[in-house]
Amino acid sequence: MILDVIQRIETDAQPPEAADVVIIGGGIAGVTATLFLAEAGLKVVLCEKGVVGGEQSSRNWGWVRQMGRDPVELPLTMGSLDIWRGLDKRFGIDTGFRETGITYVCRTPREVKEFADWADLADRIGMASERLDPAGLARKLPGIAKDYFKFGLHTSNDGRAEPWRAVPQMAMAARKLGAVIVENCAVRGVETSAGHLSEVVTEKGVIRTERAILAGGAWSRMFLGNKGVNFPQLKLHGTVARVEIDGDAGDMPVGGGDFSFRKRLDGGYTVARRNWNVASITPDSFRLLNTYLPTLMSSWREIQIRLNGEFMKEVSMPRKWGLDTPGVFEANRTLDPQPMDNYNRHALKNLARAFPVFKTAKLTHTWAGMIDATPDAIPAIGPVSEVPGLFLSSGYSGHGFGSGPGGGQLVSDLVRGVTPTFDPAPFSLERFKKKGLRPGGAA
Ligand SMILES: Cc1cc2nc3c(=O)[nH]c(=O)nc-3n(C[C@H](O)[C@H](O)[C@H](O)COP(=O)(O)OP(=O)(O)OC[C@H]3O[C@@H](n4cnc5c(N)ncnc54)[C@H](O)[C@@H]3O)c2cc1C
Repeated sequence: MILDVIQRIETDAQPPEAADVVIIGGGIAGVTATLFLAEAGLKVVLCEKGVVGGEQSSRNWGWVRQMGRDPVELPLTMGSLDIWRGLDKRFGIDTGFRETGITYVCRTPREVKEFADWADLADRIGMASERLDPAGLARKLPGIAKDYFKFGLHTSNDGRAEPWRAVPQMAMAARKLGAVIVENCAVRGVETSAGHLSEVVTEKGVIRTERAILAGGAWSRMFLGNKGVNFPQLKLHGTVARVEIDGDAGDMPVGGGDFSFRKRLDGGYTVARRNWNVASITPDSFRLLNTYLPTLMSSWREIQIRLNGEFMKEVSMPRKWGLDTPGVFEANRTLDPQPMDNYNRHALKNLARAFPVFKTAKLTHTWAGMIDATPDAIPAIGPVSEVPGLFLSSGYSGHGFGSGPGGGQLVSDLVRGVTPTFDPAPFSLERFKKKGLRPGGAA
């Protein structure tokens, strides 16, 4: 469904023979890096194996939030929100960003504790988060079922944007600034010369360059694996739906323990079963078991582990390949997993109890996306030490729509060699080589 509604933009037919920087992957991580590098005057080329924004970046819920984030990545997330606020005006585009605020509503003692603890943190760092009792919730969310929730947390300067058009709009702005953007252009790999990146090999030809950014979303692990780099990354399947209702549930995205909703600019609502993502067992589940064990132990309630067709699909994918023939990226233009209808049914049932206006909701579209998650749920942004000249911006772990522009800013600073806008230390790939990685904030 997503590929029918995603905004399509004019792109370039062919990459040039040389560039200052090549960006691999046209999701929000790659497109924002392209935009900021083009704005800084560099000659940049973005290669996307499918269509711009076709994978996670168009399939997400559209929440742009800092509330609930791991303190380690808060400066990046808060900075990213600042970038979102100015993007449309700065580049003359319409991403659909609205500073609506976001509210979490809590029923169980565990949910209340999680968000009350986070409210304490918000107080310490001076963030505009407001605790709400049932009366406060009723005032903030007029459609909420009376006294159904015990506690809420509201952050007024969080927001939302439209995933089906935000990234294409940013790509359009990058092209206006001189960036070359090529769709249906899988990058097979990179070559080095004298120990430094020298070429990016695409299905449409070789691009000479000394710098490249891998922003491959769920494919980054496989891409780096071919270069002998072990980037720990697993996939989580998330199901989403669009519904229409008779009435209004407000402008603000709302999350409960077992549902979420967000008003869309097309008049519908994006809804999902919150805290239910499927982790299919794949060969990587075994290879990375030790690395992910602490995360699994702390977030087992939110992850449904399944043995399904994904195992055989991934077994049949190569782990090493040459760059002179079509390969795995050409064969997988757009990762388009099947939605799970029962997850949407659960979401709607839970939502109707909490916000009765959804009782008669009409389901119009369903889709799914593969979230790429690192072991500590924090992205990896920085140089790949094994391949000098190659940088990574990936592993956004379910919150890259909000923090993508911050990530794009950081990686473009690092590539240009200017003082980074955010401290890059928490995002270094080197952290995965250390033992005792702690699980980060929930996705
Ligand atoms: C169901 C769901 C709900 C979510 N909800 C939210 C939310 O509300 N808020 C939030 O902040 N985040 C959310 N996220 C997470 C967010 O969407 C992602 O973190 C973010 O979009 C990741 O962006 P990306 O650019 O890293 O990856 P992607 O958007 O996946 O883009 C990667 C791109 O790289 C391309 N590519 C890969 N390999 C190659 C190659 N070799 N050559 C050329 N191209 C290549 C792919 O085709 C793809 O287009 C959600 C995700 C999902 C799936």
